[in-house]
Parts: sequence; structure tokens; C-alpha cells
Amino acid sequence: MTASSVLRGIGVSPGVAYGPAVIVRLDFPEVPDRGVPPEAVEGEVARLHEAVHHVVGSLEALRDRVAQRAGEEESRIFDAQILMVGDMEFLASVELLIRNNFLSAETAYEFKALELRSLWADSGSARLRERMADLTAIQRRVLHRLLGKPDKDENEWSSAELDEQVIIIAHELSPGLTVQLDRERVVGLISEEGTRTAHAAILAHSLGIPAVMGVSGALDRIKGGTVLLLDGQSGTILIEPSRHDLEAAKSHMARRHRLELEMDAAASEPAATPDGRVLTLMSNVDLPEEIEPAVRHGAQGVGLLRTEFLITGRATLPTEDEQTAYFQRVARAFRRHPVVIRSFDLGGDKFPAAFQAPHEANPFLGWRSIRVCLDQPEIFRPQLRAVLRAAVDRDLQLMLPLVTQVEEVTRAREMMLEEAAALARAGIPAADRVPIGAMVETPAAVLMADHLAEVCDFFSVGTNDLTQYTMAVDRGNARLADRFMPHHPAVLRQLRTVLEAGKAAGISVGICGEMASEPITVVLLMGLGFTQLSVSPPALPLVKWVIRSVQAEAADRAALTALGLRTADEVVRLLRETVASHLDIRLLDPHGALPGRGLSASFPSPTITITD
Ligand code: PEP
Ligand code: MG
Repeated sequence: MTASSVLRGIGVSPGVAYGPAVIVRLDFPEVPDRGVPPEAVEGEVARLHEAVHHVVGSLEALRDRVAQRAGEEESRIFDAQILMVGDMEFLASVELLIRNNFLSAETAYEFKALELRSLWADSGSARLRERMADLTAIQRRVLHRLLGKPDKDENEWSSAELDEQVIIIAHELSPGLTVQLDRERVVGLISEEGTRTAHAAILAHSLGIPAVMGVSGALDRIKGGTVLLLDGQSGTILIEPSRHDLEAAKSHMARRHRLELEMDAAASEPAATPDGRVLTLMSNVDLPEEIEPAVRHGAQGVGLLRTEFLITGRATLPTEDEQTAYFQRVARAFRRHPVVIRSFDLGGDKFPAAFQAPHEANPFLGWRSIRVCLDQPEIFRPQLRAVLRAAVDRDLQLMLPLVTQVEEVTRAREMMLEEAAALARAGIPAADRVPIGAMVETPAAVLMADHLAEVCDFFSVGTNDLTQYTMAVDRGNARLADRFMPHHPAVLRQLRTVLEAGKAAGISVGICGEMASEPITVVLLMGLGFTQLSVSPPALPLVKWVIRSVQAEAADRAALTALGLRTADEVVRLLRETVASHLDIRLLDPHGALPGRGLSASFPSPTITITD
């Protein structure tokens, strides 16, 4: 394997894909510079509005198709595009240009479109750059309409014409193109632009198409027809893989497939070690389409229901009714099992458009999470009411993110009781309270865990943030990825402290950070004494397999040793050895056949770090 035959980008949708490359160029159409006589000006303005109206109609139709194919929430991506295309201020500037300079509608529109694009590109705002693919897509649609070109989805390309399974490569993937891809024919996606939070990435993930984005120079390096092997988890692409690469990937995938069948069969079996320790294995749910796989993989409830998705891609906050309906839907899916709803965790790396936050120099140390909810009752109170309403006859619980002070929990509880009383007065069916827990994800919460436990009904440890704040390492900074160490003994010691405080107070202590989704680390958590894990849906089968394969007694010994070690590397090595003595450790890495991919000691940010 030569270095030149490997490309790397950001793995945004997991899975392995193999096939020839098809290059898709979604270029802007050629727009001739065309002036018009003064008497034609009003006609051009009317044409502009007709084109916008037409595009709004196509986007609405697309939104409805997406709602059926990928889900209601995903379809809201197109609501954001509809708002963009009808932006009054922008359209007024195009009208002015038509009138003042006697230009055709397409010439004026293209001029203003380019101006806006370069403004966004130079703005330095990650939020605007992230939405660039959406802007380009709607501008292309309007120009195509004005030029009288056909208005197929994304205009000139459709996967229906493919007669073999291919991997699509584009400079930039728009959500509209991504969502209309035929999953049977398009087995992988690559783009030069984009990150995990791009709308196209979110849709690829929802549709289950492996995808790698941010691969700079991909179009120069890969010609149409070149055979590729792509790993949507690690972000690795092999160009013209050798027979050996392919055989290794295939045999790895075959062994994994056999294991997957075994794991499927164990979905309804308990998460118990061979020597009889029983754990509760729950699922994290970030997006609605994760509900089904979580149930299918036998999750015993939801240990972390991320709610930010309800806001993402929308211009307005979700209503109380919408939230109630979503919580009821999740509760119904998990029947008798508990569902732990996390209040909005806004700020930090999550800035949906509907959340108007001031610019801050250090957003992770800023106005975020529970701080926002307590300061903005108009955001928090409807959510509290929705939880209470959905909790009638259901085991719903409320979890507060980023708690650092006892008063945050007591104030949230007061607000919940106030809302419960208001609902009762209004005669609206609702629970009179739900259990309230704190996410332990700051060193302050760990150090105060004994007192926090006095005001909490449960704890859940968020190891992503706990690692970030303990190691003083920004969890989203790629340059510091090697220094983001959940296995650092400084983190492990805190895990022990939290568990002891919870045990002393008689409240449960779960773990919902990504550490619990990493199979080798499960052994450590089990050995430390955690019996309630909440993991991402795809990780459920492997985590259960590890629990069912490793003796609890070996896990206890490993955890005790780990607590005395000095470095994260030593801890990871110890865990690997412990796991390897119980099962074929290579099978824990779903994509182990591709170079540059091993079980890592650090984790990517979860999928729901969305900015729009
Ligand atoms: C965490 O911080 O570990 C966590 C589970 O929350 P999030 O990743 O959403 O911040
Ligand atoms: Mg967190």
C-alpha cells in the first residue's frame, strides 16, 4: 500500500463501500450577460418572482419526499432552504439591480448570488460556511429556472441511470442530491467540501450511505471509473485497492457479518457477563431514525435522548406540542423501559439558527446548556411542560446537562413543579413530577458529587465533556485529537468518585458519554462498577457481545490496575490485553481491514453537534 493511494477526509457516515467512482459536477449554469430595454424591466422582476415561486414549490415537494424517506425532522432541512430562497432582503437587492441597471433577471440574480456566496465564504463564520452547500443548491435551482433548463432534482444528475453500484464524488454534496440517491446503486459518497455537520452528511447518515467529506483534492486525484474502497467511519479512501487489500477487507467483512448474525440473535438476551453480573444496556438517541435500530438491538430504554435535533435546521423553536409528541413517540417505542430526556444542550458547539446566541470568545466555557435553559424560561418552560405531559403513565426522566452548581438542579426542579401546577390548574393531563438527574460532565460536578446527589434522583456521566474539561482539550479540535484522552487516569479517578458518591446516596449512576460505546472501554467501566450504560445504537450489539464474553472478575481486576496507572496509553494497552484474552479483538473494529484504522483511544464528537 503506497501512501499516494490513500486519501483521508472526515468520516461522516459509517460503513465500508467498494466500487468505481462516478464524478458528479453540480456546476453553476453559464449565465450570459444580458441587458434589457427599460420597458422590459418589470417583466424581468416578474420572471424573478415566478422562478423563486417555482423553486419553493419544488423544495416543498422534495421536503415531503424526504419526510417519507428519511423522517420528519430531516425534512426540515428543506424548510431552511425554502426560507433562504425566499429571503426578502436578498430578492429586493436583485430587483434593485434589475431596475437600476436594466439587467435580465438571471444576470442580476447571478451577480447577487456570487456576491452573497463570497460574503459567506469570507465571513469566517463556521455556521455560514456550513450552510454554503444549501445556498449553492437553491441558487442553482433559481438560475436553472430562469434559464429555462429542466428542473430535475438537482437538475442534471440522477442515480436512476446507473447500472452498477458506484461511489459518488462531488466537490460539494447538496442535501437535495443526497436524499434522492438510490441506496441500491450509490454505495458511498465523497466530497471535497463539508464536515460532519453539513446537511448532506446528516442525510447520508440517516439513509445509511457510507460517506467521507472534506477530502481536499479528491477530484484531482480520482478519475471517473477508478475503483475505490471507502471507510465512512475513519474517513479513509483507498484508490485502486490491491487484490490483497480487497481480500482482507472482504474476509474481514465476512467474519464481521457472521458475528453480526450472532449478535442479532443475542438482541433479546440479557447484558450479563459469563460469571453472572447483569448490566442495563440503554441507547442514546440523537435523531428520530435511531429509535428503530435501538429497539431492534434490544436497548433497555434511552439513557440520553438528545433534544437539540428538534431545533436544528429550523428558523423557530419547537412548540410544546411538537416536543410532547416526540417524547410520546420515543416513550411508546421503548414501552416499559425508562427514557431519559436531556433538556436542550445549546451553545458550546450546538448553535441552531433558532437559538440566537451572542458571539463569545470561548463558547465551551460560555453561555451554554443548563445556563441557557435557566436564563431563558421561554425555551425551558415549554420543554418542561412537554416532558410532564408525555410522562403520563410513562417512565420519563429529565436530565440536566453541564451542571456545575447545586442551585441549578434545585431551580430546575422548582420550575418543573411550577409547570406541573400550572398544567394541573389548566386541567391538562400531565405527570405531577418526573425524576431529575444531573449530567456529571465537569470536574466541579465530580468534586461536589456528594452534595449534588442530595438534590438529584440520578446521575449520568457525560464523558465527552468531562474529558474535555478535565484535560483542557477542546473536543472538536482536530489538532488536539490525540490529546483528548477519556482513558487518562485523571478521568478514571473522577469516574470512581462519582460512582462512590452515587452509591453513598443510594442513587443510580449511569454513563452516557461515548466511552460507553467503545467496546474495549466497556470492560473498564464494568470493572469500575458501572451497571448502567447508554450507548449509540450501532454500538449496542458489540457492547453487549463484549459484556457477554468477558468475565466480570477480569474486568474488576483490570479497572483496579487501571486506576493505578500513569498514562492513557497504559490504560488502553491493559484493556486491549484483557479483552483479547476473552475474544477475537480484531472483530471489534468494524473496518479493521483498511490501513490507518485501529481502535483509538479517543472518540469523534457525536453526530448531533449541529450548527445552522
Ligand atoms: C457528553 O458530554 O459526554 C455527552 C454525553 O453529551 P454531549 O456529547 O451531547 O455533550
Ligand atoms: Mg456533554
